This record gives sequence, structure tokens and C-alpha cells, in this order.
Amino acid sequence: MQIGAHVSSAGGLVKALDRGDAMGADVVQIFTQSPRTWRSSAHSHEELTSYAAAQAAHPRVRATFCHATYLVNLATADEALLAKSHRCLVENLVTASAIGASGVVLHVGSHRGAGIDAVLVQVAGGIVAALDGASDELGCTCCPLLLENAAGAGGTVGRSFAELARILDATGDDERIGTCLDTQHLFASGSDYSSTEAADSVVADLDRTTGLARLGCIHLNDSLVPLGANRDRHANLGEGEIGAAALGCLVSHPLLDGVTAILEVPGDGDGPRSVDVVAARALLADGIARRAG
Ligand SMILES: [Zn+2]
Ligand SMILES: [Zn+2]
Repeated sequence: MQIGAHVSSAGGLVKALDRGDAMGADVVQIFTQSPRTWRSSAHSHEELTSYAAAQAAHPRVRATFCHATYLVNLATADEALLAKSHRCLVENLVTASAIGASGVVLHVGSHRGAGIDAVLVQVAGGIVAALDGASDELGCTCCPLLLENAAGAGGTVGRSFAELARILDATGDDERIGTCLDTQHLFASGSDYSSTEAADSVVADLDRTTGLARLGCIHLNDSLVPLGANRDRHANLGEGEIGAAALGCLVSHPLLDGVTAILEVPGDGDGPRSVDVVAARALLADGIARRAG
């Protein structure tokens, strides 16, 4: 399993590769624009193509994932917000594709209590339209869109893999759509994986619903809040309510071996550090050793 880290792209996108390299990460995740504003960053054509070239030739960092803007809400009843969300998601996908990213991770949005049934067609249509729109702008197929499981707060869509599977189904199983499993969101939405057996049943559930072949990456985070708290609050590995042993039970699953796990932990307040990457490799090794008996 490759270990990645969310890093800043301040000062130019390509700096993200140096930051990932400096902390010993195999993979980086970045925002291609400020995650809490609608305004898209004006990246020059040169900046995008030089990132793609630097990524392809990088001796250590093997892939880049992008995280979509947090404001995007494909489940909203507000038409103006939906239109902005659509435009923003297309821009996220176009930029990510231009830098050669492996996928864009998306929080699908919140229906604010209307229920998944009320928004399923809209959400699925919005996802397909964004992928089509980005591919049209690029003149080729854009990178995959990875739907992330939600912690379950306030009507968030994707609180279970069964719910994400319904969205996939409503898109006609569009091949451009994948998933992202966030370990903190999984725990906060009520899934326990504190033993190898429990972790195996979580992975089996994932395979039964959205299918493991769709899993584009894992977000490897501990949790500040308890099991089932339905809140999205990340903690450093081994310092939260999940703990290093349970995280190790999950990520050591043999069927997840080829998947990349990306840290989105707080570190000292500025995000993942090299000690967090070391902690990730250690809990993975411990989990594998436990499985080997
Ligand atoms: Zn995440
Ligand atoms: Zn989160």
C-alpha cells in the first residue's frame, strides 16, 4: 500500500511534489483552488503542463489526487447554488486532468433533511453532467471523480456505501466514477473495525455495495469524535478515538493492498508531517503482522 499525504500547493502547484517528497510520501493530494471559495485559481497552461511533466518524472512521488472544493453541493434545492456547484466541479475536474491527477475526491453534498430519495436523480445527473462538461472542455476523457463516504452530519449524502452504491446505480454505473473511503467518516458514521474480523466485514460490505474495483483511494485519518458521532473531525493517527490498532486492522486487509492511503490529519495544525507518514507505515506493518499471526 502506498502512503500519501494532503499537502499545500501554496506558491505554485508543483511545490506540492516537493512537500510530499520532503515528508516521505509516495503520493500527494492537493486542492487546485482555495477549498472554501468559489473563485477558481487561474493556473496558466504552462503551470499545468509543467506539473504533469514533473509528476510523471518524479523519482519518489508517484501520483497526485485532488480534493474538490468544499462548497460544492450537488444535493441542494437552491438552483443558484447547484449551478455554481456544477461550474466549480467542472473546473476542478479540468484542472486535475490537466496536471495528470489520478482522481478528484468529492463530498457529494447535503440534502438538508429532504432524504436521499428526493435528490438521487439530481445528484446522479449532476455528476454525469460535470464529467461530460469537463471532458468536453478538455477534448478527451477527464480523470475519475471519486465519491467520498460522509460522516453523516446534517443530511450529508453518502453516509454509507449502500447510499453511494445507489448514486452509482442512478448514473448507470458510469465507469468514470469511483469511490474514496475515509476512515474517520466511516467510524463517525457508526462502522466499527476494531478487530480483524470487524474490519473484514467492513471491507466485504464495501465490496458488496460499491465494489472494491471502484475504490480509488483511502483517506487515512483518526477521529476526534466517538463511534457514531456523525461529525467530520480528523485526529492524528493513534491520538484519536479509533486508534492505531483499529486503523491497522482495516488498512492491512489484503484486498486493499494496491490502494493508496492518503493522510488528512491535522499534524501540528498545518496538516500531515513526516512523523505522520511514519505512523501510517507503522500501523500498516502492525496490522499485516497481526494478520500473519
Ligand atoms: Zn477525507
Ligand atoms: Zn473529513
